[in-house]
Amino acid sequence: MTSALRRKAAEMASAAASQCYSYSLSPAAWALRQGGGGAARVVRLPSRRRFSVAAAGGGYDNENREYVIVGGGNAAGYAARTFVEHGMADGRLCIVSKEPVPPYERPALTKGYLFPPEKKPARLPGFHTCVGSGGQRQTTEWYKENGIEVLYEDPVVAFDGKTQTLKTSSGKMLKYGSLIISTGCEASRLPAKIGGNLPGVHYIRDVADADSLVSSLGKAKKIVVIGGGYIGMEVAAAACDWNLDTTIIFPEDHIMPRLFTPSLAKKYEELYQQNGVKFIKGALIDKLEAGSDGRVSSAVLKDGSIVEADTVIVGIGAKPAVSPFEAVGVNSQVGGIEVDSLFRTSVPGIFAIGDVAAFPLKMYNRIARVEHVDHARKSAHHCVETLLTSQTKAYDYLPYFYSRVFEYEGSSRKVWWQFYGDNVGETVEVGNFDPKIATFWIDSDSRLKGVFLESGSSEEFGLLPQLAKSQPIVDKAKLKAAASVEDALDIARSAL
Ligand SMILES: Cc1cc2nc3c(=O)[nH]c(=O)nc-3n(C[C@H](O)[C@H](O)[C@H](O)COP(=O)(O)OP(=O)(O)OC[C@H]3O[C@@H](n4cnc5c(N)ncnc54)[C@H](O)[C@@H]3O)c2cc1C
Repeated sequence: MTSALRRKAAEMASAAASQCYSYSLSPAAWALRQGGGGAARVVRLPSRRRFSVAAAGGGYDNENREYVIVGGGNAAGYAARTFVEHGMADGRLCIVSKEPVPPYERPALTKGYLFPPEKKPARLPGFHTCVGSGGQRQTTEWYKENGIEVLYEDPVVAFDGKTQTLKTSSGKMLKYGSLIISTGCEASRLPAKIGGNLPGVHYIRDVADADSLVSSLGKAKKIVVIGGGYIGMEVAAAACDWNLDTTIIFPEDHIMPRLFTPSLAKKYEELYQQNGVKFIKGALIDKLEAGSDGRVSSAVLKDGSIVEADTVIVGIGAKPAVSPFEAVGVNSQVGGIEVDSLFRTSVPGIFAIGDVAAFPLKMYNRIARVEHVDHARKSAHHCVETLLTSQTKAYDYLPYFYSRVFEYEGSSRKVWWQFYGDNVGETVEVGNFDPKIATFWIDSDSRLKGVFLESGSSEEFGLLPQLAKSQPIVDKAKLKAAASVEDALDIARSAL
């Protein structure tokens, strides 16, 4: 069948969709990024319903109307791959994107992208989805070859669920049969009135932000990183390779407070200090001040102290990009568009995936939003399988986080850690960070709930999800007495 015929068939066809679902949200619904607890949830499985799509023309500006994805990020790229695998993309799928390039592996932006020019930094098209999971590199041509219509640099600004239409910022009117919202997150910003928009102040969410930061790093001497989470730690590590005077400022007692124990954080902080990075902990920013050239020149702390900086990178978290889809249903506890375990929103035919989705985290019986690429990939796949097949299997996600820093050429110490599961309960730490260290989270029933490993082999990293998924009962005393990380992992493995 030619692409045109397929398109015609698609226009005549209807998109499978699902009925409303209902579930009771936990009173203290939980986000992985916020912590908390949750209660039971009831999910009504769907009977399937079909939606018709307007025929060709009709005053709409998209040719492919059966399936529309809003957002051209990580999750959208993986969703597109699943449509192609099912032979359901050509002439049927349209992606509406705010960015000027096709979906890419966003984590690269604070890693290989920030290498100095002489160290072969990562650049597009090198890290388009789905290279991060070993798939084909989905360049602009890949989308064309697969008959996927992509509208670039034209964000959706309005949505009408009754008429199944979208309006973009350039005024285009789009029609959809089924809609997948994958708008991700926006970086949280410091208010303009305290200098959050000064030249030299950077936020990093997309390639344009990363380009702007790289251009500042090339001229920078003194940088201040605000925030001790992923973005702050990755950018500070990159700044070491540029030999910049770097200070990290954050309000908590230690870095990565939502995941790391104080002891674990101390090991990483020492490594950063050995690389010349300074820490100002327990500090709040009062304002960022500009110099005579109008660019940022210093950060003023609430205690009145002043830290000079010609470049400031703000990594203080992100907010789910729910606009203009608020009417679809925003979760009041964790933010984001509420979905069930098949990524269906409360509006039939509309789905949400990736960072923006507030979904039931089945194994811990709570509602979560997960801002990590592994979930973006898996939720995209699960959602499209739901849409295109009769799958009714509930998404059963095992939380997984990782980071890789100091990986540049000439680095004396590469860092690569992975975490699986839930960081609740008592902790047992094994290893001396030379280079390995492991932390085990164990609950009051002696069940292993979460496990963290630095510098593991691929076989050791491969064991972590098995442990976190099965939650075996472990002998705490034995783990504490383990002579090495390898021994500790063997003890945990033997409990499986
Ligand atoms: C700098 C950085 C480093 C990261 N590093 C890691 C890491 O090391 N490990 C890890 O697991 N995760 C990491 N993450 C998180 C990971 O990248 C995200 O979880 C993942 O990108 C989420 O995919 P998504 O498709 O939901 O959102 P995104 O990839 O953010 O894509 C959303 C897209 O939607 C677009 N959009 C928004 N609103 C609209 C609209 N109205 N109309 C059209 N388009 C719209 C956005 O411009 C964007 O292109 C990192 C994120 C960042 C920003």
